[in-house]
Amino acid sequence: MPDQLVRATAADGGIRAVGVITTRLTQEARQRHKLSYVATAALGRTMAAGLLLASGMKQPQSRVNIRVKGDGPLGGILIDAGLDGTVRGYVDHPDVELPPNAKGKLDVGGAVGRDGYLYVIKDVGYGYPSSSTVEIVSGEIGDDVTHYLVSSEQTPSALVLGVFVEAKGVTAAGGILVQVLPKAARDEALVELLESRVSALSGFTPLLQANKTLPEIFEQLLGDMGLEILSQTQLLRFHCGCSFDRMLGALKMLGQAELQDMIEKDNGAEATCHFCGQVYQASSWELEQLIVDLQTETGG
Ligand code: ZN
Repeated sequence: MPDQLVRATAADGGIRAVGVITTRLTQEARQRHKLSYVATAALGRTMAAGLLLASGMKQPQSRVNIRVKGDGPLGGILIDAGLDGTVRGYVDHPDVELPPNAKGKLDVGGAVGRDGYLYVIKDVGYGYPSSSTVEIVSGEIGDDVTHYLVSSEQTPSALVLGVFVEAKGVTAAGGILVQVLPKAARDEALVELLESRVSALSGFTPLLQANKTLPEIFEQLLGDMGLEILSQTQLLRFHCGCSFDRMLGALKMLGQAELQDMIEKDNGAEATCHFCGQVYQASSWELEQLIVDLQTETGG
C-alpha cells in the first residue's frame, strides 16, 4: 500500500478526520539517517503528526515544522511537512537505543525526555510564519501534539500515532487525527461525542499493524458517527528540496577567508544535508569559483 492521506467527515460535517499511512517514508527516513528502533519510532511519529497538521491548512504551499526539544538522549527532533504531501526530518542522535518501556513498547518518551518543549511553526508560504510552543507532556509525541492542538489551537482533538519497526524495517506507520471543526467547537454535544470516542481511537494502532486501509480503519472506529469518507486520496512521500546548487549557496555565505581555508586544508568541501542525509562534495575549483563570485559582487 503506497503512503497516503485520506480525509473524512462525521457528525454532519462537525467532525473532521484525517488519516495517514506513512510506512514507506518512515522506512526511507530510517535508511537515510541510519535510525535506531526508538529513533525510527520518534521521527516516524513526528513526521506523521506533521502531515496531519499540514492537512488542515489552506494555501497550497503551506508547511508545518515541528521541533521537539526534550532532555532525553535522542536530543532534538525536527520535521518539515507540507500540505503537498511531502515530509522530511531528522533527529540529533539517530543511533540512541533504549530498552523497551514498562508496556514492552519502544520507549519514545524516554528517548525524547519528559522535560522540554514542542514548537509548531506554520508557514502559509508568504513569509511571516506563526509559531507556538507548548511544554512536553510525555515525550511520546502523540500526547504532546494533542496538547498543542487543545491548548494553542483550542480545537477539541484526538490524535493517535503508531510506528512498528522490526529487524527487516518499518512494517507499519501512520496516524489519525479527529477534530471538532472550529465552527462547531462550541457545540458541547459534538465535543462530548469526540471525547467519548477517544479511548476507541486507541484501536487505531492494532488496525494499522494489521495493514488495514484507512477507509477500513475509519469505518471501524467512526462508522457509527455518520462517517463520510472523501474520495480523493493524496499520496505522501519523503522529499527534501536540497540540491548541489543550494549547498554551494550556503558555502558561499561562509565568506572568502573560510573558503580559501577549505581549499588549502581540505582540497574541497563536503556538506551533509541534515534533513535527508544527502552528502554533497564541492571541489577546490568549485570553491574558487565561489570566491570569484564574491570578489565580483564586492567589486561591483
Ligand atoms: Zn536534503
